Amino acid sequence: MQLYTKITIGLVAGAVVGAAVNVTGTAALPFWSEGVLPFLNFVGSAFIRAITMIVIPLVAASLLVGVASLGDLSKLGRMGGKTLGYYLLSTAIAITIGLTLALLIKPGSRINPASRDALARDFGEQAEGRIQLAAESPGVWDVLLNMIPSNPIAAAAEGSLLPLIIFVIIFAAAVTLLPQDSREVILTFFRGVNDASMIIIDWIMKLAPYAVFALIAATISRFGLDVLQSLAIYTGVVTAGLLLHAFGTYGTLVAVLARLNPIEFFRRVREVPLIAFSTSSSNATLPVTMETAEEKLGVSKSVSSFVLPLGATINMDGTALYQGVATVFIAQVYGIVLGFDQLLTIVLTATLASIGAAGVPSAGIITLILVLQSVGLAGQAAAGIALILGVDRILDMIRTAVNVTGDLSCAAFVARSEGETLMPAPVDHPIAIAPVPEHELTGRR
Ligand code: ASP
Repeated sequence: MQLYTKITIGLVAGAVVGAAVNVTGTAALPFWSEGVLPFLNFVGSAFIRAITMIVIPLVAASLLVGVASLGDLSKLGRMGGKTLGYYLLSTAIAITIGLTLALLIKPGSRINPASRDALARDFGEQAEGRIQLAAESPGVWDVLLNMIPSNPIAAAAEGSLLPLIIFVIIFAAAVTLLPQDSREVILTFFRGVNDASMIIIDWIMKLAPYAVFALIAATISRFGLDVLQSLAIYTGVVTAGLLLHAFGTYGTLVAVLARLNPIEFFRRVREVPLIAFSTSSSNATLPVTMETAEEKLGVSKSVSSFVLPLGATINMDGTALYQGVATVFIAQVYGIVLGFDQLLTIVLTATLASIGAAGVPSAGIITLILVLQSVGLAGQAAAGIALILGVDRILDMIRTAVNVTGDLSCAAFVARSEGETLMPAPVDHPIAIAPVPEHELTGRR
């Protein structure tokens, strides 16, 4: 059985068990809260830690090998330009989809006042905690300054990807200028680190179906189904936007820019959004994203090691789309009409807020506060966040799946534009892959 099928079974089984416990109520099932849930939490967290464990060695080694084997460093600048351009474009499209749906469907005008007040009361305290975290986030200059690591080892130890990426790129550029013998020593070593990391990912992924079961069962069993009910339209609008962006925007971009059959693209990468959905973390999914890009799409290491770690850190289309809908929703709930200039401000600040959000669970709701403040909703931020916090986990799962799919679509585009032959090989007509005649496969006529 394929790994993807096993992971899907884990996910569905986890959802069924979690929903059954949720409906029964944990009070009636003491063995669940005391015995099973702590065990499931252990299994889920162990998996996330194990896969996160490999992020730093993998990113450092593969980026070093990738950049150092580019040969021509001007290619790096070109790839950087395309990657950032694609990321900004797809994020802007994502926010526009979110804003359009929220303005058309008006989820905030449809929530009943009793549920609104109950939610604001129940989640008020947790929301205050998020506001506190947002207040502690650094300003723009500090963000830029923090990209230059004064100590790259410390950046790696703290799992700060962006400063590490910057250091490794500079280091790798220097490696290309070394005499051949010293260059080969460094490259051989890091190639080994990269290959060993890939082997470890394969080992950890064997555990993925069980971990996904545990993560999903634990999440759904705790999830407030009544909260979902009162926020059904809001949740529906975010989900519809995310699906539209995932299949519509990426499908089109993959067909037009990477000239791949989008259905085949989604089929080949499908394990990645599943892991992102279960872990709610682009960072934890990164090793699987990189392995899939290289082994299933045929993207070169030079492209995947550059585009994907950067994407996990700065490209979060799902998060940006969600922030767009959430901002309009909160404004609608409080009867505030947003003008065109405020909508433009949302496009701008949600782009920045999604870039600033870390690839970890719930990061998007903290940077959402900055978007709310930018359009004059600071006064409504605490109550607004309290309102949507109850469904944040489920939306986090879906938006993370979209975030990583976006990164993969960019990797396909950049690889293709650099003249790489991807799997499946590009075809003249992107919507269909020409079948290979049988005699070509068998050699017989
Ligand atoms: N969990 C998301 C990610 O890792 C970020 C967020 O939107 O909260 O990509």
